[in-house]
This record gives sequence, structure tokens and C-alpha cells, in this order.
Amino acid sequence: MPGEVRARYLALCGNVYLGATVPALASRIMAVATYIVATEPLGAERARRLIANNAAVSDMNWVLDYFRRSADHRLLFGGRVNYSGFSSFDAPSATRARMLAVFPQLKDVRIDYAWGGDVDITLNRAPHFGRLAPNIYFLQGFSGHGIALTGIAGKLVAEAIAGIAARFDVFARIAHRSFPGGAALRRPALVLAMLYYRLRDLL
Ligand SMILES: Cc1cc2nc3c(=O)[nH]c(=O)nc-3n(C[C@H](O)[C@H](O)[C@H](O)COP(=O)(O)OP(=O)(O)OC[C@H]3O[C@@H](n4cnc5c(N)ncnc54)[C@H](O)[C@@H]3O)c2cc1C
Repeated sequence: MPGEVRARYLALCGNVYLGATVPALASRIMAVATYIVATEPLGAERARRLIANNAAVSDMNWVLDYFRRSADHRLLFGGRVNYSGFSSFDAPSATRARMLAVFPQLKDVRIDYAWGGDVDITLNRAPHFGRLAPNIYFLQGFSGHGIALTGIAGKLVAEAIAGIAARFDVFARIAHRSFPGGAALRRPALVLAMLYYRLRDLL
């Protein structure tokens, strides 16, 4: 049932899911699917041999992989992205194959969990904050780095609403361009760009 809420301020922070609800924001972000797999527990010693210093690792490719050990000695491996939007993509198998390319010694290991979702990337991969009107704020485009940054974003928008906008405006001044191609051609343009970058990674 439709309802009505009255508020003095509005903060739009709906990630890619806002979509056409706010067209002015939708053109600055693109939904990109990313996936993670978690192996079965490997035991402390086997897990330690994979990443001796317990670092969180990401490689240097443009289409990057990232991985780390979990507290219960699994390997978490993520990063395979699907820019095409084709739903037939077998994400767990593709991500496992990428994991085995880095850690072939895990061939016998079971995948216990696999999950994924959409992240909202901007063209320059910096977050996109600003105002659509003096009392309408938006925060989006975390580009896959939202876990820490969304907490900061919430604090900064609260400060701005309370009247101290200096720190929010540091982010709001970052210039952002729309994805080329408009609503209809954005995804094909991104797929082509990704092919280019993946080819560059391979070379
Ligand atoms: C598989 C995967 C792995 C990731 N790994 C990492 C990582 O290791 N490190 C990292 O920093 N980031 C990671 N991210 C990215 C991180 O999860 C996001 O950057 C972050 O969650 C974005 O936060 P958000 O508040 O903008 O959006 P969300 O957390 O998606 O929240 C948006 C909220 O808005 C609600 N909403 C949307 N539309 C409406 C509407 N019309 N009305 C009401 N409510 C609405 C949604 O229900 C949702 O609750 C990962 C993402 C995925 C998918």
C-alpha cells in the first residue's frame, strides 16, 4: 500500500537498487556483479601455507582477484566479475577456477559457500556524494570498497545535516562523469571496455 513520509532531510543511499527511481544518479553508476567463494576449513597449518603473513591480498589487474584467510582457516577468494549481465554465468565454478589458477594445491578442496551481489561502480572508481537539493543528499558509487567507506559516509552526511558540511564537501567536490551510451548502451559499452582491460591484463 502506498504511504507518505515527511522529513526535513532525505539521504539517498540505495546502491544500484534505486535505479530509475532517481535517474539523475543512475547515469553515474553501473551495476557490476562480483562473487566470492569460501573453501571448507583447511586447518591452521594448511591455511597458513597459502598466505604465510595473513595478509588480505588483491592482485594488480584491472579486473582483479582478492583473497584472504578466514578466522576459521578457510580461504576466501573473490573477484570474478560479470559485466555482461547474462544470468547464465556460473559464478561459483568460474570463481573456483580462478582460485585454482592462483592456488592449484586446493584442487581437492570443497567449496562450502559461494555468494555474490551487485556493486555500484563509478567511472573513476571514487565514491559519488552530493546534493540534489539543499536538503536531499545522496551517497553512492562505493565501487566495491564500501565496507569501511559507508561508515565514514554516514558520519559525514550526519555532520552535514547538523550544519558542518566541510568534510562531506571534500567528497562532494570529486568530479564524476556519466557512463557513455545513455541508459540503453551503457552496459554494451562497459562490456567492450572490460574486454579491452581484460586483454590488457592478459598481455
Ligand atoms: C560479493 C561482494 C563482496 C564485497 N566485498 C567487499 C569487501 O571485501 N570490501 C568492501 O569494502 N566492500 C565489499 N563489497 C562492497 C560493499 O558491500 C558495498 O560497497 C556496500 O555494501 C555499499 O553500501 P551501500 O550502503 O551503498 O549499499 P547497500 O549495502 O547495498 O545498502 C543499500 C540499501 O538500500 C536499500 N534500498 C534500495 N532501494 C531502496 C528503495 N527504493 N527503498 C528503500 N530501500 C532501498 C537496500 O535494501 C539496501 O538495504 C562487496 C560487495 C559484494 C556484492
